[in-house]
Amino acid sequence: MQISELQISQVNSQIQALISAESFYGKKLEEAGITSIATQEDFEQLPFSEKNDLREAYPLGLMTAPEENIVRIHSSSGTTGLPVIIPYTAKDVDDWAIMFKRCYETAGVTNMDRIQITPGYGLWTAGIGFQNGAEKLGAMVIPMGPGNTEKQLQMMMDMKSTVLCSTSSYALLLAEEIEKRGIKDKIHLKKGVIGSERWGDKMRQRISKELGIELYDIYGLTEIYGPGIGINCQYDTGMHYWDDYIYIEIIDPVTLKPVPDGEMGEIVITTLVKEGAPLIRYRTHDLSKIIPGECPCGSKYPRLGTIMGRTDDMMKIKGVNVFPSQIEEVLREFPELSSEYQIRISHLDGKDTMRIYVETNGSVDFVELSEKVAEKVKSRIGFTPLVKVVEIGVLPRSEKKTKRVIDERYN
Ligand code: ZN
Repeated sequence: MQISELQISQVNSQIQALISAESFYGKKLEEAGITSIATQEDFEQLPFSEKNDLREAYPLGLMTAPEENIVRIHSSSGTTGLPVIIPYTAKDVDDWAIMFKRCYETAGVTNMDRIQITPGYGLWTAGIGFQNGAEKLGAMVIPMGPGNTEKQLQMMMDMKSTVLCSTSSYALLLAEEIEKRGIKDKIHLKKGVIGSERWGDKMRQRISKELGIELYDIYGLTEIYGPGIGINCQYDTGMHYWDDYIYIEIIDPVTLKPVPDGEMGEIVITTLVKEGAPLIRYRTHDLSKIIPGECPCGSKYPRLGTIMGRTDDMMKIKGVNVFPSQIEEVLREFPELSSEYQIRISHLDGKDTMRIYVETNGSVDFVELSEKVAEKVKSRIGFTPLVKVVEIGVLPRSEKKTKRVIDERYN
């Protein structure tokens, strides 16, 4: 995605603020001898920032605006070590609400809707983000927070909630409860705005069908405001994101070079107008792609594809980046296969080899099926794997997360 003149001048303002605040990134820039940029090439020379940089700044090392302007902090739920603290100015809070309002509007939500918010309130950015955006829109908020399914359903019926904001797993749980209790005719939901967990099509269809609602994927992360920096529209051709607030690049996570639009890689985000804690070239480790061209909805905002996983899942085979989710997608196209598979990568006679084990029952021709799968995988990733079809039950299963990728090259 080409960076615009306006975006370059906005990045320069962010750079100035970071240098004067003597933040970790300001120091990185000083070390690199950079005080401003003029072109796309200059921008691509800027150092990346990483979650670790942010952790090391704990507690308030990221604060880039004067303390009297900081009105709130949020924190990311770090599973290991120190959390990340993001300070917000009043303008940051307002900008975030404007972006979130835009998300609701993109999903067709209006000020006549009643929005039931089930993500958590508190240090993290979920609940309050959904709320501020809804208030900005002028809709009626029902601020439930998570859990208490009994009360959740009671309010949903009594308040005639029309929009459900939740994670995909909680939406599914509510859908199942509604079915179990036979109260579907008392539910008035029309749309679901679902936080950006990675979720499969099957789950999506189930929630949508059980609740009888349209679903919208919302994207965001605490380090960059929170949820609300992008959402899909009714055409469902990717998530529109707000390029007047953020600049998104997709990079190859190995070479760290930007990849062309349409190619899969890691999402890297630069804030353009943030005051409390601006971030330049922040590596999200989320995998997706920029979707080229225009959306049928006519929106001028660019689009980001569905999040396909994390960079840690990526494999480099024969010089090609391969993601397990790509293989999974191909396998799902074959109804005769079970959901189990295993990928083994080895290095033989100076060449990388990829073997994919899949399962089926005895009623199909194994050889024919393996050829069909290999051909489909090749069209997806660019080279032909060795596909071995085995009887159902042969591949290992475990109660915890099954290890599906085994890389034997570096043993
Ligand atoms: Zn659109």
